[in-house]
Order: sequence, then structure tokens, then C-alpha cells
Amino acid sequence: MKMLEISAIKDLLSTPKHIVITTHHKPDGDALGSSLGLYNYLVQKGHYVRVIAPTDYPMFLHWLPNNPNVIIYTENLAESQKLVADADFIFCLDFNWLSRINELGDYVRESKAVKVMIDHHLEPEGFDDYRHWSINACATAQLVYDFIVNIMNEREFLNKDVATCLYTGIMTDSGSFRFPNTTAEVHRIVADLITCGAENSKIHQLVYDNSSENRLRFLGHCLLNKLEILTEYNTAFITVNEKELQEFNLGTGDTEGVVNYALSINGIKLAALIVERPDKVKLSLRSTGDFPANEICKKFFNGGGHRNAAGGASDDSLNEVILKFKSILPEYKTLLVQ
Ligand code: 5GP
Ligand code: MN
Repeated sequence: MKMLEISAIKDLLSTPKHIVITTHHKPDGDALGSSLGLYNYLVQKGHYVRVIAPTDYPMFLHWLPNNPNVIIYTENLAESQKLVADADFIFCLDFNWLSRINELGDYVRESKAVKVMIDHHLEPEGFDDYRHWSINACATAQLVYDFIVNIMNEREFLNKDVATCLYTGIMTDSGSFRFPNTTAEVHRIVADLITCGAENSKIHQLVYDNSSENRLRFLGHCLLNKLEILTEYNTAFITVNEKELQEFNLGTGDTEGVVNYALSINGIKLAALIVERPDKVKLSLRSTGDFPANEICKKFFNGGGHRNAAGGASDDSLNEVILKFKSILPEYKTLLVQ
């Protein structure tokens, strides 16, 4: 398929259009931040815009400006399907395979809308007509900033709402500005977002100091009782079964970030969180340096992601997944111990 030059979008968006913005399954801070950032920009230009999330998402993102305008696909099937079918444009943010938006992907594929992908993941599927894509971007929100400021040439539309959403996306996907792709340019963008009204300190508090008591006690349980360290492989992992999820009465997003504690142990190169969900076992992998966490997810767990942050899932039992995860490590020993 011939990819079209993204700059041509400027003319196409010069009159009001019906626009759907969608993002990946279980949206995180970057997925929602980039989607609502783009939403808050496009509505200022008179477009009719809806954000459709394939599934629900954590409470700590519900404060984002204009969050009530997000439709959750699984709770509004007919309305979502009609919006997708009738759209002039569909913006696909923070994912690049339609399988990442579940059943909604079939409707997006069939829709006659112009499809624009803005994303920073490896190996796009190629369902899009236009793309603004770079694997060097630390967040999709960074690419949305670039789209508004440098492709649309409309920095004047970066109001407080847009800036707040994009700041949230960059903050969460860059691990609070500490991952290696947090370049000087990213800091310049973030500074500009603060100039445009993003209240950085308040946003950090809203996202990171917003735990329920249960979540904190669950974290304590994981660290004290569930953390296993495989010294031989510089690997640490935490497993959580369905009973524990129920006992702590966890909500969507409550397991997010837990894997990072395992990675924070001195010398650990690979960390995993393996969670038994009602329908499947979900894995979250994190790594340091050159270790390809995404390769493990892609090869063994039907997933993918970035080199240092990846995920996947399995229909096997929790125990089988744990055994499989451990059995993969010898193959990667050289990389893990170097
Ligand atoms: P998390 O561990 O936070 O669920 O996911 C980390 C990253 O891995 C996400 O940003 C996403 O890029 C990727 N990821 C997670 N789950 C999947 C999956 O099932 N498939 C693919 N392709 N990528 C995933
Ligand atoms: Mn992202």
C-alpha cells in the first residue's frame, strides 16, 4: 500500500470533519493522554470528535481534561460501531496493529474513513493511509505535539487542556523522564507544555499519588511474598493468581507499575509480572540496556512492545506460563549476564 505524506492532512482537515480517535486495549497514560490531547486540539478547530477506548482504563486517568467524552467500546457497541462507520477520519494512536484494539479493529478496517496512525511502536501492520511514526519518540504524545506544532503549524492551539494531556502521556511513557529516549528535545517539548499551562507538579500527584489503600497493600504483598529472584539470570519476577486479585479487590490499572519494583533491584536486567486474569495469563516484561524484552513477548507469548517494556498473554495455566518463562532464560543467558 502506498503511504501518503502526512503533511497533506493539513488541507484535508481545513473544514470540519467527523473524526474518531482510538487507542489500544487497556489504555495507559500515553494512550489516553495522546488521544485526549489530540481531541482537545481538534475540537478547537470545529471538528466533530469522539474518542473510543477499546476497554476501560485506570481511575488515575479519569481526571484528564474532557475524559467524559471518551466512549468505552465494550460498554457502547452500537454507538461505537456507528461512529467508526460514519467517520471521515480515524486517528489510531499509540498502537500499530488493529489486533491491539480487539474486535473494534474489524470495524476500523472496514470503515471508509481515512486512517491516520500516530505511534512509536516497532513494525507497523500497514492498515493506515497516513502515518506519523517514529520508534525514537519516547511517547505517542510527543508525536502528537510534533503533529500539532510542526505538521499542522498550529502551536497557538496548545491550550491548557492539550498541554495537560500531552504532558501526562510523555511523563508516563518516559518513566517520569528517565528512560533513555528522554532526549533534550523531549525536555524542550515538556518545557513548552508547561509554558502552555500544564501544571507539572499537580499532574504527577494526580497520576502517581492516587493509589487506593488496597493497591498499596497489594504492592506490599507482592514485594514481600511473591517476588522471586533468579540470580543466575539476573532476572526477577512476581506472579499473581486470580485469588489474590480478588482478595485485594483490585481495579483496572492497579497492577500497573508493580513490575518496575522488580527491575529496580541492583543487577537485575529482566523483570516480569505474571498475572492470572479470568480469561488468560498476562505478562508484563521490563528490561535494562540492550535486552530485548519485546522479542521474548513476541516469540513466546503472542505479544510485543518496546525493547525495554513489552507485554504478552497466554491461554496456558499460570503454572505453565511460569515454567515456560523460566525455561526461556537459558537461551538468553549470555545477554542476561554480560
Ligand atoms: P504493559 O506491560 O504495561 O502491559 O505493556 C508494556 C508495553 O508492551 C506496552 O506499551 C505495549 O507496547 C506492549 N504490549 C503489552 N501487551 C502487549 C500485547 O499483548 N501485544 C503487543 N504487541 N504489545 C503489547
Ligand atoms: Mn506509548
